[in-house]
Amino acid sequence: MAKVTLNVQLLEVSQKPITLIYAACRQCYSEKFAGDMCSDQAADVKKQEEFVKQIVASGHQSPLEHVKFSFAIQGVSRSLTHQLVRHRLASYSQQSQRYVKEKDFDYIVPPSIAQNLQAKEEFEKLMFLIQKSYTRLLALLGQDKISGQTANQDARFVLPQSAETKIIVTMNCRELLHFFEHRCCGRAQWEIRLLANRMLEICQRELPAVFETAGSKCESLKFCPEGEKFSCGKYPAK
Ligand SMILES: Cc1cc2nc3c(=O)[nH]c(=O)nc-3n(C[C@H](O)[C@H](O)[C@H](O)COP(=O)(O)OP(=O)(O)OC[C@H]3O[C@@H](n4cnc5c(N)ncnc54)[C@H](O)[C@@H]3O)c2cc1C
Repeated sequence: MAKVTLNVQLLEVSQKPITLIYAACRQCYSEKFAGDMCSDQAADVKKQEEFVKQIVASGHQSPLEHVKFSFAIQGVSRSLTHQLVRHRLASYSQQSQRYVKEKDFDYIVPPSIAQNLQAKEEFEKLMFLIQKSYTRLLALLGQDKISGQTANQDARFVLPQSAETKIIVTMNCRELLHFFEHRCCGRAQWEIRLLANRMLEICQRELPAVFETAGSKCESLKFCPEGEKFSCGKYPAK
């Protein structure tokens, strides 16, 4: 049982992403065949990059759907992944609590609790008790011939939302831009905001032509659409 922190790794990004987006854009408007128009010579890619920047600025986003990013994520809570999987235009593969025993589960401690000695003590005491209870339930259910097979899936009902999990997520660039608009916002919950910002850094490094101006919605609007009550104050509310 240990307190753990976020780790995000880029597993894969589509090959020749700029050329791919460029091909998709050109095919919409050209008589020619995209397969013949898409050189991946460095000088051509430079020109394609400028074209892609204009496409992104114009809001013509469907060509961006052809390029995908896959991330491996660990050190996040089940509370975070519950929010993450609400984003439907994505693919997920998450560590199972049915097939993987949580014999010695790790957990995420929210910063507000980590910074408060009494709260931290209370939190860690409970994590310890939950672990004991989970292990005891496994033993009890495992003794029964029929329910023994389902011990993991039923014992997990006592696990907390803070239990650490691992997940692979694949999103295309259009969905990533949407995800960043919502989850990099100061109104988003701290843990998913941290994840979104980490993913954004990776996307900006890999594909600046698409992601250099990405982020919370206010960054492109230059005002806060959340209204006075929820605004973080970075931009004036509308
Ligand atoms: C700050 C914040 C607070 C939140 N609070 C809550 C809460 O209290 N309770 C709660 O339940 N959720 C909450 N959510 C989750 C939120 O309601 C969305 O479920 C989540 O952000 C996924 O976003 P989405 O539906 O826009 O996008 P995605 O699922 O990522 O889809 C992207 C876009 O595709 C289109 N699309 C996808 N599926 C459909 C469809 N079936 N029909 C039509 N268009 C579709 C939409 O344009 C959508 O915006 C919160 C989110 C944030 C960022």
